[in-house]
Amino acid sequence: MRLTILGCWAPYPRPGGACSGYLMRCGKTSLMLDAGNGSFAELTRHIDFSFLSGLVITHFHPDHYVDVFCLRHAVEGARREGKMNEPVKLFIPPAPEEIYRKLAGYTGAFDVVNIDELPVTGEIPGLQARKVRLGDTTLYFAPTTHSLPGYSVVARHGNKTVCYSGDTAAGEEIKKAANGADLFICEASGMNKDAAFLAGVHMTAGQAGSLAREAGAGRLVITHFWPEYDINILLAESGEGFEGAVEPAVQGKTFTV
Ligand SMILES: [Zn+2]
Ligand SMILES: [Zn+2]
Repeated sequence: MRLTILGCWAPYPRPGGACSGYLMRCGKTSLMLDAGNGSFAELTRHIDFSFLSGLVITHFHPDHYVDVFCLRHAVEGARREGKMNEPVKLFIPPAPEEIYRKLAGYTGAFDVVNIDELPVTGEIPGLQARKVRLGDTTLYFAPTTHSLPGYSVVARHGNKTVCYSGDTAAGEEIKKAANGADLFICEASGMNKDAAFLAGVHMTAGQAGSLAREAGAGRLVITHFWPEYDINILLAESGEGFEGAVEPAVQGKTFTV
């Protein structure tokens, strides 16, 4: 499985940067995870968008979904010109309802799947997760603790697992979702000094590191960075809790497991 960072900034990007977006390639499946500001342009550096198997939006904060409108126009244009036969599978949460309805109306571009209507499985121990099969990859969605309803995503291909936290405070769900992940892409939205400000909504870098240790993750990549912060400080704070390899998300970088 290969995971490429398309964007790592939140809630606005640095110059030349993009907000949350990740390209996961495994076998014949190419999946985009989140589509924050600028991430669609970054995607097209790596693959032709017409080869996308699907797009998952973890929640409807702008830094995670606004480039869905870029993909909409790209797909509609490609279909008009006969370059794409099928709409792109779009996995989205049902709330806020007005955003869900708007995206579900773009039937020329998207085949919309309401994540909340996927079947529930107990295949991840201790977790009630939604499950779907996409090509040769299995996706699980675990509920997050955040200011909007949303999901963390677990992707399994063969015996390899990648977990992406989405936006979430630390808690049992994300710990179970990340359990034993070969690669854990985890938000680290602030420094340890920001713990009170972020409580119940996001993680500090230190909390991301502790969570990765408790979950037994193989490798930790921290992301979702406030653009004004020194990433080296976030990296050091996350490394205090986690003994394994910790790396920062860097736009354009690919991690392989
Ligand atoms: Zn965010
Ligand atoms: Zn958010």
